[in-house]
Amino acid sequence: MPACCSWNDVCQYETNKVTRIQSMNYGTLKWFLHVIVFFYVSFALVTDKLYQRKEPVISSVHTKVKGVAEVKEIVENGVRKVVGGIFDTADYTFPLQGNSFFVMTNFLKTEGQVQGLCPEYPTRRTLCSSDRNCRKGWMDPQSRGIQTGRCVVYRGSQKTCEVSAWCPTEAVEEAPRPALLASAENFTVLIKNNIDFPGHKYNTRNILPGLNISCTFHKTQDPQCPIFRLGDIFRQTGDNFSDVAVQGGIMGIEIYWDCNLDRWFHHCRPRYSFRRLDDKNVNESLYPGYNFRYAKYYKENNVEKRTLIKVFGIRFDILVFGTGGKFALIQLIVYIGSSLSYFGLATVFIDFLINTYSSDCCRSCIYPCCSTYCKPNEYYYRKKYESVVEPKRTLKYVSFVDEPHILMVDMQLKGKSLQDAKGQEIPRPPLDFTDLSRLPVSFLDPFPSPGDAEELQLLHKEAAARPKESPGWCQCGRCLPSRLSESRRCLEELCCRRKPGACITTSLLFDKVVLSKPTLQFLLRYQEPLLALDEEATNSRLRRYAYRYYIAWRFGSQDLADFAILPSCCRWRIRKAFPKSGAQYGGFRSPY
Ligand code: GDP
Ligand code: ZN
Ligand code: ZN
Repeated sequence: MPACCSWNDVCQYETNKVTRIQSMNYGTLKWFLHVIVFFYVSFALVTDKLYQRKEPVISSVHTKVKGVAEVKEIVENGVRKVVGGIFDTADYTFPLQGNSFFVMTNFLKTEGQVQGLCPEYPTRRTLCSSDRNCRKGWMDPQSRGIQTGRCVVYRGSQKTCEVSAWCPTEAVEEAPRPALLASAENFTVLIKNNIDFPGHKYNTRNILPGLNISCTFHKTQDPQCPIFRLGDIFRQTGDNFSDVAVQGGIMGIEIYWDCNLDRWFHHCRPRYSFRRLDDKNVNESLYPGYNFRYAKYYKENNVEKRTLIKVFGIRFDILVFGTGGKFALIQLIVYIGSSLSYFGLATVFIDFLINTYSSDCCRSCIYPCCSTYCKPNEYYYRKKYESVVEPKRTLKYVSFVDEPHILMVDMQLKGKSLQDAKGQEIPRPPLDFTDLSRLPVSFLDPFPSPGDAEELQLLHKEAAARPKESPGWCQCGRCLPSRLSESRRCLEELCCRRKPGACITTSLLFDKVVLSKPTLQFLLRYQEPLLALDEEATNSRLRRYAYRYYIAWRFGSQDLADFAILPSCCRWRIRKAFPKSGAQYGGFRSPY
């Protein structure tokens, strides 16, 4: 982000530069992916109504259970008794908190309990043989009262610890089977459910005026009827009412409101479904079913008594959920905005293909079909990616005449000559023929053929300039020892060749391309037409131009220019052509 120092910096717009690849395959693939994404986005928009603002439902529930059951037999104080009893709503329903109601299906009664001392009901835990087995004041969460410390007769020869409790103590009994109120499956429940979407200012209820109130809910035939037969609810979840009735259970009645509040597709009716919420596998669970105790208190001869009832039954939890949605332009815009990113899928996928098929591993693939994939992709890759190396002080590029690649050396030389430094081979940038137009004008002059007078004269000159002794690392015989300080010397210990052979400075092109004084002078004037320099300054400028020319010629890319190192022979040849008085040359300095 540019610093905001002037209006010009603010009034800028940055855009990406892209590479357009003209390819039948990738073009088709792009459109194919775009079409898939378009259809998916449109499909999701319509089916999930993503153009709507949604709001969760707020609701209130009211239930009414109806039905009468006859009970012919009850279990009282552990003994079965034949009775003729009718149970109506007040007997078998209990008020519960929240959106729940309870229907009793089975019970155990302990009648006529008064506060006093009596033996515990005999179980493995309460049986005793003498007072020593009982402990005064002791009780545990399972016991019915507080032990008095005495062991007394319960019945016959059975002795149990005496407790201070409601007497007689409750018998430990299994729930009667079949359930005493198994006919409760014919009971019906009417559910009234009012809902509200305050954000959309809309409210409604499940019972609309004109609804036939004598109906019974049926999943397919009457799915809107708010009256449910309890047995039917269990059938829907695959359970048997009379089985569940023995131990009790918990059943969920789900009311789902998926409301479309748009005027043109208005729909807001509930959907009922059922779900067993307690442990279905009675045998495996620790405390199966659903039960609790309650007591009816009364006074007899001024003594407070109670009837304790252990109630088994089914708790119905009514769960109301759902959303109401209405068209909102903001939601639509947000959705369109977020789905636009999916259109980037084509780019990600095709870029992935280009990267994969231009990798080294594709190139090393032995099947002939690979090359048909890899070659074009390598080309696209080159056009698309521009690699940038971190500009470090230690980075140097070296180019030998007798090697096809350029060497990237990224390390401290530590006294070792650059000629011997190890590095990474990087391909020489491909020759751009349009660059040739930028070459010195004289280069385009016809070449003298070998044996031409000019050529001969040149070689003569070169032979005369040949130093008597070249340093050990030199392979061309034309390098000179560096005159830099000890620490920087190794940087200039570089020859134009890796192996012994002719020096590049003896090439006719070297004189034509690098040392052509008229061209370099022309460039200097071209750049600064009215520049007035003395000879020393002119030479310094020309020397730098010549370095650049050599680098452009041998390294091919301007990107490498800042880090490319000239061989000693070329450096001295250029310095000889454009000398500095005193010959104290500063040498290469990394700009970073
Ligand atoms: P100077 O005129 O006393 O500084 O001595 P030189 O002729 O050695 O250097 C002139 C300029 O060319 C300096 O800015 C150097 O950084 C640069 N230069 C010298 N040698 C090289 C080289 O091998 N490669 C690159 N890229 N630049 C160089
Ligand atoms: Zn050399
Ligand atoms: Zn050389």
